Amino acid sequence: MEKKPFVTLSQIQEITRTYPTPFHIYDEKGIVENARKLKAAFAWNPGFREYFAVKATPNPYLMEILKKEGIGADCSSYTELLLSEAVGLKGSDIMFSSNVTPDMDFCKAAELGAIINFDDLSLIDDYAGIAPFQETMCCRYNPGGLFTLQNEIMDTPKDAKYGMTKEQLKEAFLKLKAHGVKHFGIHAFLASNTVALGYYPKLARILFELAVELAAQTGVHIAFINLSGGVGVAYRPDQEPNDIMAIGEAVREVYEEVLVPAGMGDVAIFTELGRFMLAPYGMLIARVLHQKHIWKDYVGLDACAANLMRPAMYGAYHHITVLGKEDWPCDHKYDVTGGLCENNDKFAIDRMLPEIENGDYVAIHDTGAHGFSMGYNYNGKLRSAELLLRTDGSVKLIRRAETPRDYFATLDYPGLERI
Ligand SMILES: *Cc1c(COP(=O)(O)O)cnc(C)c1O
Repeated sequence: MEKKPFVTLSQIQEITRTYPTPFHIYDEKGIVENARKLKAAFAWNPGFREYFAVKATPNPYLMEILKKEGIGADCSSYTELLLSEAVGLKGSDIMFSSNVTPDMDFCKAAELGAIINFDDLSLIDDYAGIAPFQETMCCRYNPGGLFTLQNEIMDTPKDAKYGMTKEQLKEAFLKLKAHGVKHFGIHAFLASNTVALGYYPKLARILFELAVELAAQTGVHIAFINLSGGVGVAYRPDQEPNDIMAIGEAVREVYEEVLVPAGMGDVAIFTELGRFMLAPYGMLIARVLHQKHIWKDYVGLDACAANLMRPAMYGAYHHITVLGKEDWPCDHKYDVTGGLCENNDKFAIDRMLPEIENGDYVAIHDTGAHGFSMGYNYNGKLRSAELLLRTDGSVKLIRRAETPRDYFATLDYPGLERI
């Protein structure tokens, strides 16, 4: 599918009069439309709820937009809980899916009344010494082995640090039941960024069958199944985006086949999507600073891997549009780089693009999730601003760019305090 930026060159020229590049910009209209589509896809399940994975894009203004659509927060750390609290989420609006959890984080989650998702059996004993058990609690499952879809290996749960074995899960439920817990959830995250329609339905079947088995063995009430994240987006132009309506329908079929006949037709479906909710609705906008032509042709941007780590870290593809040159032929081959002293600081390698001049603006697509949030300060590079393109076409600064003062803020050193 053709990948079109949600802003034009003239919009960017206008915006950069106030906010210089680089920055991430998010599209409110796209975010809201997509959130409504997800809800429609699972409307057959009265208890359905999406908990946005805060780690994907921890910005309270974006969380607020999602909250207006009825979406909660999936947190994994103390600061993510603070963000959720700040946007007015509490109680069952928050899912706390952490691992290697510090006591302080459990305390905060309990104080907010969040639904706590235990990653390990041992954490239940830890928790018992920290906070009271709630009526509804959740446990994370790891089936081990390989996770395959149509004979293709999608991921290897046997090598994943998350979740409990089936035996442990059973023991956990009995332990929690003894602590007075009344309603139970089961969670699993078995493959990331899936674009095959089959991921959620296959995961749902595994968890639904497990739920039926555990309910029979332990006599507990399973209140929800949390399908977690993992529904992917089409980063490449030759990929088809996920059809969320078809995914919702396929999960419904498994639900009717497995849960309803077992008398478990009251089970709510939860999701914890991050990437699917925001990735396509964010872009990193950068400007071409320099070009060099040695053994290859390089285009150097004012953004670097510190603003978007996925290409350097995973070799991930992010589509690039040279703004204003959307209709030009892509007849030049470039490596598009940032300025880190790291040779993996490349947004694209051997990418066919229109002829580029210094000063051109480029849009790096699909940075709305796991983009800004994975940023870092290596080489003293500063984190960029985040902007929101509102539904009415106006632009709001939702996070200012860092300054050297922010970078030095944790140092107490003469000569740096006056910067
Ligand atoms: C990262 C994460 C998610 C979100 O994953 P996406 O791939 O962004 O959908 C959801 N739940 C948990 C527990 C996670 O760690």
